[in-house]
Amino acid sequence: ATRQKVALVTGANKGIGRGVAGQLATLGMTVLLGARDLRRGEEAAAALRTTGGDVHAVSLDVTDPDSVHKEAEYVDERFGYLDVLVNNAGITGSGQISPADAHDQVPSAVDPDMVRAVFETNVFGVISVTNAMLPLLRRSSAPRVVNVSSHAASLALASDPEGPFASLLPSAAYSPSKNALNALTVQYANELRKEGVLVNAAAPGYVDTDSNNHTGLLTVAQGAAVVVRLATLGPDGPTAGFFGENGPVPW
Ligand code: NDP
Repeated sequence: ATRQKVALVTGANKGIGRGVAGQLATLGMTVLLGARDLRRGEEAAAALRTTGGDVHAVSLDVTDPDSVHKEAEYVDERFGYLDVLVNNAGITGSGQISPADAHDQVPSAVDPDMVRAVFETNVFGVISVTNAMLPLLRRSSAPRVVNVSSHAASLALASDPEGPFASLLPSAAYSPSKNALNALTVQYANELRKEGVLVNAAAPGYVDTDSNNHTGLLTVAQGAAVVVRLATLGPDGPTAGFFGENGPVPW
């Protein structure tokens, strides 16, 4: 008999994370829906359960080591293992303004404290959660880690003067945080390759969520799809990769 698959999605009370949680539940996984505000997490989980999914809200602030530690203990006690970790929780640093429109992120004007705050969530939070969950992931027969990155993390795209990113406002907080997330993705993947833990970065595309005040062009379901694909890779799937809906994204 195969054991019930268990997935944890951070920042899943809304947006892409919620979409990922719903899709993983539809595939039959037990989904732990991480939310730093448990009440809003419970509401999202209840809504996803109405379509039959096994979704449970869990309290998780990725920037709070105590919260991360408690969540790992909870998963250990309740399940004893974890199959899928989706590091989705993220902030732009500019509220609901897309980084591509955020004047406060232009390098020459940026406040280093804002950069620090964005890295705290988008980078250090990922290290904290991943390290806390790794002992549980190692007990899975097919462990998968997906780091929700962005096309804005592509240095190849950003440095192309003819490319689509050249016309956007430069971002010294959000984009570098996702550059660092991509770099970490490769380092984790290389450390864990021999153990069969597949670690990849996903670029969901420009998705209609609060984080860009709903200017995004893709639906949450469309943005979540690539994340779900990387969370459900077969044994011969890639690791240390960076993928969007249409395949590999240049680093
Ligand atoms: P939303 O703002 O809709 O959702 C972000 C989620 O992260 C919320 O649930 C939020 O919780 C949560 N979160 C923020 N900080 C923390 C924290 N410290 N601990 C736990 N959870 C936290 O944004 P999106 O759905 O758009 O973004 C999800 C991911 O996708 C992010 O990593 C983002 O960078 C990435 N992305 C989004 C794109 C887009 O076009 N939308 C494009 C490329 C990448 P709360 O509700 O409490 O604030």
